[in-house]
Amino acid sequence: MKANEVLDMLKRRFPNEPEYHQAVSEVLGTIEEVYNEHPEFEKSNLIERLCIPDRIFSFRVTWVDDKGQVRTNMGYRVQHNNAIGPYKGGIRFHASVNLSILKFLAFEQTFKNSLTTLPMGGAKGGSDFSPRGKSNAEIMRFCQAFVTELWRHIGPDTDVPAGDIGVGGREVGYMYGMYKKLARENTGTFTGKGIEFGGSLIRPEATGYGNVYFLLQMLKTKGIDIKDKVVTVSGSGNVAQYTVEKLITLGAKVVTMSDSDGYIYDPDGIDREKLDYIMELKNLYRGRIREYAEKYGVKYVPGARPWGEKCDIAMPSATQNEINGDDARALLANGCFAVSEGANMPSTPEAIDEFLKAKILYAPGKAANAGGVSVSGLEMTQNAQKLSWSSEEVDQKLKDIMANIHEQCLKYGTQEDGYVNYVKGANVAGFMKVAKAMMAQGIL
Ligand code: GLU
Repeated sequence: MKANEVLDMLKRRFPNEPEYHQAVSEVLGTIEEVYNEHPEFEKSNLIERLCIPDRIFSFRVTWVDDKGQVRTNMGYRVQHNNAIGPYKGGIRFHASVNLSILKFLAFEQTFKNSLTTLPMGGAKGGSDFSPRGKSNAEIMRFCQAFVTELWRHIGPDTDVPAGDIGVGGREVGYMYGMYKKLARENTGTFTGKGIEFGGSLIRPEATGYGNVYFLLQMLKTKGIDIKDKVVTVSGSGNVAQYTVEKLITLGAKVVTMSDSDGYIYDPDGIDREKLDYIMELKNLYRGRIREYAEKYGVKYVPGARPWGEKCDIAMPSATQNEINGDDARALLANGCFAVSEGANMPSTPEAIDEFLKAKILYAPGKAANAGGVSVSGLEMTQNAQKLSWSSEEVDQKLKDIMANIHEQCLKYGTQEDGYVNYVKGANVAGFMKVAKAMMAQGIL
């Protein structure tokens, strides 16, 4: 089957899964050239096998809320591809979770993990459970109920989950605790664990730091210094927080952060003290970003995203499709010259087209946010060795991995006119490794 026929087939076979179609379409649109250079791929129907997940588990999760009411949610694990290593990818708890979203995330994860240079396949899981407004006890009971179903499908060499939106250290701790009880082993089947029980130093920081390290690599190609650059960041969760932390230490000026209710604009820049406030607000009190505007007397814009604010660099770190065509045009009109994605697929296809047409530095999530899963891979290595490495050691490895991913993007994405198409570079590099591994292992 030809690449464009595969997309039509997926739309027919799996209708009503727009995010999944979007992710597949973006990759297929960029790998055609290398695909055509390898007729053996078509002979073995490689693209179709690579686009459809190996298997999907779906289950009911039953739990009891604080009022004693019995509640149900749906739970899923999409094991997309394990050609280069055990299935690996996070768990998302959010009201919007459905199979389309998890299939797009698992598909993306497969290429992202391939780029990291570490031996990890791609997976994703989650639930339509919304952590918003839930007590700590409810979160714990939900995590335990989720894992009583999930545990039989995962293991240190088969499938290693981690966090994603709505799942941080607290949730991983509760899930891992239940997993250990059921599986009767201590081999580190989850990553993003607490530091006291096998977690890696720098894992909480890794996605945000990694995104900034990738941005620095891109800026270096143009001889641009990050110092004093104005940056708009969206989100205020784990990825956004550590993106802002690293940007502050490098002397950049971060003027926005957001949550699903709206964004704050701080013209003086978010400094260390203000970031500490946000971390406490979000991680401890689970409050809303609006409270920052009230405390520091700055602008709060409800129901909007920060892309209309003037900036040099944008780092979307909230969720999928948070930058549409209009947002992209607004960013460009305001002089934004670099976009580096901390979230997964935050730009719509129309927005990506705008960035590429304008030839700005544009790094897709599967390259720029790969730092998180990279340090997850390093956590797996430390667990297997029953050792733990210092922060400096992990941070250096993270920098090296991000530099390597950047190199791969340059190798496969540099156009004749010298412009680096990072979308193409990341897709081709990620694809070729998985494709070669699949070919070598026969028709499965
Ligand atoms: N959810 C993160 C991602 O999108 C991390 C996955 C992991 O550490 O396994 O890459």
